[in-house]
Amino acid sequence: MRLILLGPPGSGKGTQAQRLVQRYNIVQLSTGEMLRAAVAAQTPVGLKAKDVMASGGLVPDEVVIGIISDRIDQPDANNGFILDGFPRTVPQAEALDALLKKKHLKLDAVIELRVNESALLERVETRVAQMRERGEEIRADDTPEVLTKRLASYRALTEPLIHYYSERRKLLTVDGMMTIEAVTREIDRILSAIGAVEAKAAKKVSAAKRTAKAAKKAAKPASKPPGRGAKKGAKTPGKGAKAAKPAAKRAKKAVKRTARKASVGSRARTAAKARKTAKKVTKKRAKA
Ligand code: AMP
Repeated sequence: MRLILLGPPGSGKGTQAQRLVQRYNIVQLSTGEMLRAAVAAQTPVGLKAKDVMASGGLVPDEVVIGIISDRIDQPDANNGFILDGFPRTVPQAEALDALLKKKHLKLDAVIELRVNESALLERVETRVAQMRERGEEIRADDTPEVLTKRLASYRALTEPLIHYYSERRKLLTVDGMMTIEAVTREIDRILSAIGAVEAKAAKKVSAAKRTAKAAKKAAKPASKPPGRGAKKGAKTPGKGAKAAKPAAKRAKKAVKRTARKASVGSRARTAAKARKTAKKVTKKRAKA
């Protein structure tokens, strides 16, 4: 399972990512966490990123893309991963597409946590207060001023990704204003739906492949091997072989058609479900 969690700072991406890690036995790849570790270890990447991060800006694309590419190659990411905080811009998303293609990996879904912006400030304040209570160090970018800047950057640079992934039929939207438990349940439900739909589609495709194989097999005896009198290496096929060719071709076409139908059907259903959820969110927002 390979996922992206999309949402503004404070939308609960980190919390939900941790739950997905447990549920699907995958790793969480958070560029924010990796960069913070690099800053703490004072690595060259950390030194480059430190000031940009403290001011709420974005670390250069090549830095984060490099980090993600290396991290995906680690053995613990073989079983799947969830990207949290990456991609954050359309160029980063394009770089990720190219990277996954090169590594022969497929992205399963992008989960958008849609939240009410005014509630985010409150959430961050609560998080800071709780961390203070626990005696934990407060993040340099967890102040209301920096959050305002990070939100503006999300709106301008990251929100276009919603359109990017929706066009590619990867986007699934969840109401991030529900309780943590409810959001987790909804994500689980959506992911199971995708899994079930894709399993069904795969079944249809393999059934069509079996039919095609059978058709090919049935057509084979017709293409007689050259008889005793035939010249060695004679290339002209017999009548039967001629008839077998279109049959195999037709069968092949049927497989392609079924595969296309199955995939379009599954994506359409998933997209319809996502749209329904998004509508609910919009209604809720309108009410709020
Ligand atoms: P986060 O923990 O995801 O909120 O990230 C904290 C900070 O790390 C951000 O405000 C950025 O400065 C930097 N950062 C994390 N991910 C990225 C990314 N994909 N592209 C650029 N900068 C990033």
